[in-house]
Amino acid sequence: MSIKGYEVISIINKIADVINENKIYLTELDAAIGDGDHGLNMSKGFEAVKEKLKDDNGDDLGNTFKKVGMTLVSTVGGASGPLYGTAFMKGASVLNGKSEIDLDDYIQVLKASLDGIKMRGKAELGEKTMIDCLEPYLNELIKVKSSGLDVVECLNKAKEAAFKGLEKTKEIKATKGRASYLGDRSIGHQDAGATSTYLMLKTVYTYIKGE
Ligand code: ADP
Ligand code: MG
Repeated sequence: MSIKGYEVISIINKIADVINENKIYLTELDAAIGDGDHGLNMSKGFEAVKEKLKDDNGDDLGNTFKKVGMTLVSTVGGASGPLYGTAFMKGASVLNGKSEIDLDDYIQVLKASLDGIKMRGKAELGEKTMIDCLEPYLNELIKVKSSGLDVVECLNKAKEAAFKGLEKTKEIKATKGRASYLGDRSIGHQDAGATSTYLMLKTVYTYIKGE
């Protein structure tokens, strides 16, 4: 099963809508242990992405992802702008010239994105960041891919692993980003960046399932 470039654009637009619908929620999560700008910044960034992709038909997804990454870097700000921006720009590097992607391509994009986030933010799994959602998702996707399940079921299992990772951020102490200033007081709160990552990954599943 492969997804055409224009469908990838539709997924990104859908992600923008979902982030916008959840901007208050994301901002509240960030307000508890950060500075309360995550939802507003992400929604502003993804609105700019939507605008930027208006005339993009997805015939070169490398180019599309590069535009998304650059737009996020220049509009989101905070820690998450450069991190999500890097994720999309790294993803772009494995999509150059492609007008459709299959599950293997998607896994390569996620790998490049995760490596980019880790390199840029110098964080690892278990530090209460977006990595705690993305890394379990990617690992589960790689694991279930070879189990013979269809793509939709693979994405569902990966989404469930991402949700577990997200839930776990409530139990751990932040050691990176603004929330780390709170030390032990960050325990008991869900990480905002892991939540926005989860919303994106869930949107991919919902879209593909609906096809
Ligand atoms: P800021 O903290 O600068 O206000 P945001 O509120 O937009 O930035 O984003 C905060 C989110 O960024 C956190 O919830 C966390 O998931 C993520 N984050 C912060 N620092 C890092 C890092 N070094 N590596 C990965 N993710 C990080
Ligand atoms: Mg913030």
